[in-house]
Amino acid sequence: MNKEKRLEILTRLRDNNPHPTTELNFTTPFELLAAVLLSAQATDVSVNKATDKLYPVANTPQAILDLGVEKLKGYIKTIGLFNSKAENLIKTCQMLVDLHDGEVPESREALEALPGVGRKTANVVLNTAFGWPTIAVDTHIYRVSNRTKFAMGKNVDLVEQKLLKVVPKEFKVDVHHWLILHGRYTCVARKPRCGSCIIEDLCEFKEKTEL
Ligand code: SF4
Repeated sequence: MNKEKRLEILTRLRDNNPHPTTELNFTTPFELLAAVLLSAQATDVSVNKATDKLYPVANTPQAILDLGVEKLKGYIKTIGLFNSKAENLIKTCQMLVDLHDGEVPESREALEALPGVGRKTANVVLNTAFGWPTIAVDTHIYRVSNRTKFAMGKNVDLVEQKLLKVVPKEFKVDVHHWLILHGRYTCVARKPRCGSCIIEDLCEFKEKTEL
């Protein structure tokens, strides 16, 4: 895909949604970090349902430690893999208290050192809590980038590198959310909704649908 098309796609996505953000509910960097940890292989809706009850009771690392792992599990038991997520969240809270005064560090290295936090989670937190121009390539971004030919790559790391290279600076902070939302609601996995897609004329996917 050429530069002009990419620019037009980004401009349209921006015009359509000038201030995109995550669909996970959060009010602090810690609430976001915990929600992202809980969201692996689960929907944002299911995570929000759990955190809407958990956060009024405990929304800091110390408060979650005080709650204890068993009570924490009670709040998140409707989310997949809740046992291991609870264990990881408790360990993460302990490290935040011990090493970072109970705050979420604004550092990739420090974030990736936390249990259960990989590059993708660190990218989400750096981008969405701290405004860094990072791009966390999830299944939606991977699919949309390859299908449209906007930024092709054989794995998520390659797509991330390509996106970081081809997306102009002014769009970098928000491109993460535009592509996720586009993949979640329009360019969906099974049958993309090409008929109601705002970038249909620019997308280079060969098997467009009329939906
Ligand atoms: S035209 Fe279809 S394949 Fe291309 S981005 Fe839109 S929904 Fe996805």
